[in-house]
Amino acid sequence: MENKTILYIEDNFHNRRLVRRILQPRGYALVEAEDGVSGLQLAETLKPFIVLLDIGLPGMDGLEVTAHIKANDQLRHTKVIAVTASAMRGDRERFLAAGCDDYISKPVQAAELISKIEQYLPGANRLD
Ligand code: MN
Repeated sequence: MENKTILYIEDNFHNRRLVRRILQPRGYALVEAEDGVSGLQLAETLKPFIVLLDIGLPGMDGLEVTAHIKANDQLRHTKVIAVTASAMRGDRERFLAAGCDDYISKPVQAAELISKIEQYLPGANRLD
């Protein structure tokens, strides 16, 4: 069976709550981690279809998490979507160069988040 779990790695409670409030009522299987090391461990265990990834994380940052995910043969189907307030020129290119598949800026907009997820995970885990 195809694994359609979404893992969100984010150290800020408010951002996690916002994304949870967007995804859970729509029936997505969301798992959360608060730092890069535990997030990477969860990714290796759960093999999520999508990882939503904050870049500024305590310990191991998001770019390092991305490098580990992309170097793992078992996680090669995982799509990594960077979620960050960072809007400096060149950041998007930096995230993509590090191996991220896509990018969403904060504050997360429900319509943009859903549209990105649907792009990679058509019709998955939907209630409707
Ligand atoms: Mn952060």
